[in-house]
Amino acid sequence: MSEVFYRKWRPTRLDEVVGQEMVARTLRNAVAKGRTAHAYLFCGPRGTGKTSTARILAKAINCLAPQDGEPDNECNMCRAVNEGRAMDLIEIDAASNRGIDDIRNVRDRVHYAPSEGRCKVYIVDEVHMLTDAAFNALLKTLEEPPAHSIFILATTEAHKVPLTIVSRCQRFDFRRIPLEESAAKLADLSRREGVEASPEALALIARESAGSLRDAENLLERALVSYGSPLTEEHLRDLLELGSDEQALELAGHVASKSVKDGLALINQIAGEGADLRQLHRSVVGYLRGVMLASAGVSDAAIHPDEAQARLDSFAGNASMPHLVRSLRLFSEIDMRREGASAIELELALVRSSMEEEQAPAPTAPPVPAAPPAPARSQPAPARPAAGQRPARQGTQPAPRVSRQPAPASKGPPVEYTPTSTDGLPTEPQSKLDSQWNEIVRSLSRHKGRRFNLGALLRDCKEREISDGQIILKFSFKSHMERMEEELSDPQTQKVLKNALANALDGPHHIKVAVVGGGGNGPRQSPALRSHLVRAAQSMGAKVVAEKEEIPDDEQEDA
Ligand SMILES: [Zn+2]
Repeated sequence: MSEVFYRKWRPTRLDEVVGQEMVARTLRNAVAKGRTAHAYLFCGPRGTGKTSTARILAKAINCLAPQDGEPDNECNMCRAVNEGRAMDLIEIDAASNRGIDDIRNVRDRVHYAPSEGRCKVYIVDEVHMLTDAAFNALLKTLEEPPAHSIFILATTEAHKVPLTIVSRCQRFDFRRIPLEESAAKLADLSRREGVEASPEALALIARESAGSLRDAENLLERALVSYGSPLTEEHLRDLLELGSDEQALELAGHVASKSVKDGLALINQIAGEGADLRQLHRSVVGYLRGVMLASAGVSDAAIHPDEAQARLDSFAGNASMPHLVRSLRLFSEIDMRREGASAIELELALVRSSMEEEQAPAPTAPPVPAAPPAPARSQPAPARPAAGQRPARQGTQPAPRVSRQPAPASKGPPVEYTPTSTDGLPTEPQSKLDSQWNEIVRSLSRHKGRRFNLGALLRDCKEREISDGQIILKFSFKSHMERMEEELSDPQTQKVLKNALANALDGPHHIKVAVVGGGGNGPRQSPALRSHLVRAAQSMGAKVVAEKEEIPDDEQEDA
């Protein structure tokens, strides 16, 4: 890959170095005051201007007519450096095989006076790559530096440079170049080259180059070679094989709005198109971050073009901050570089991001009675009260009595129970029935059968199963099941219940009763013993002397 732009537009003065104002100012002052050090260590990520700055510094030191610490770029010394023929500028690439020999040469020759300028300047690039022997040779030289020599060591990995070396250098840390500055530099460069490139294209180049101006300039050049002027964002996407970012943006929107179904369909579609899922993942994480920032009132126009930013703002308007934080965390935890990483990772993160909020309802949500923690098998559908339970109505109910604390017959914490068909998804009438169950129970809450209140009995019906035109109502207590059986033997009561169910299911069903878990003998533990009030009393020394099962009857003709 050629580096024409990079070389052509390399900064020639310290004030042209992009994004390193602190470093440039300090060095300029040092040159202007004649107080340069004998050894410098330039640390920082690749492409942030370390070597360019080193060359400018070398020029400024030997310049015949420096201006406020800057080289004039016109004298013989400056031109020699700019044209790569300066005798007193020695560049060593420590990463090359010749590294050790070069360093030995330096040690042997460092005491010769400079041939033209005031100082011999040695630039050792990628200095962390030197061998121990070469480091030792270098250290000896740095320990007794001749007055007319200056060493500038550059590295991307300062921690690999021995402390004995580091401690003899004046250290400068080069920062990653901010995206706006990178993009602005690219715009300036395009203008000077007489080519057109859209701001979106330049922003994308800056983003892809992650703070390395050299990478950014090379990428711009590659793009111009391939597509010419004017350069668009689509050209860059094509060059970088990024696929459509529109899909990533859309997916971020589905995550933000918890549109699981649409999100899964989109992932499926993208995977089917053979797109690069790693890139999709990166983009989605970037966009989710954008939504989170937008939610906090921060917009990062340098990262996202205006149009995308507007969409991110709208996503933010429809999502809670906790949900966005969770989603961003879930998506950024995915390691798509892992062997075998697939669309499943993205699907899981999407589903989980929509689920976990249900565990902790937002404070503004209406109170849900005894919201159980969502079990792993639970569907990502919005939580609804467990069957048989329902929100307390304002003041019409007496305080619950110990003996009728609803408790599930199964072990473990109460969970939302969604009977499923064999493929694991609720059948349509099944989900219809389950979603309307509380309403059905409520509609029967004032209906007294022969002996018992139907609604109260049905509150103990924890599971319902629909198959072949019949509904099996499963009770947690055998006694309740028997009472319902008794009530159903009365044609009048049976008709009432059938009608209530038929309304919900668009058609009549035959009604059967059973006990949860397939005809067991009721709960393993008496409801009284499972009550937290009784347990609390027991813990204080109370003893159960008698148990009397009680039918919930609080709504019998009292309203
Ligand atoms: Zn000069």
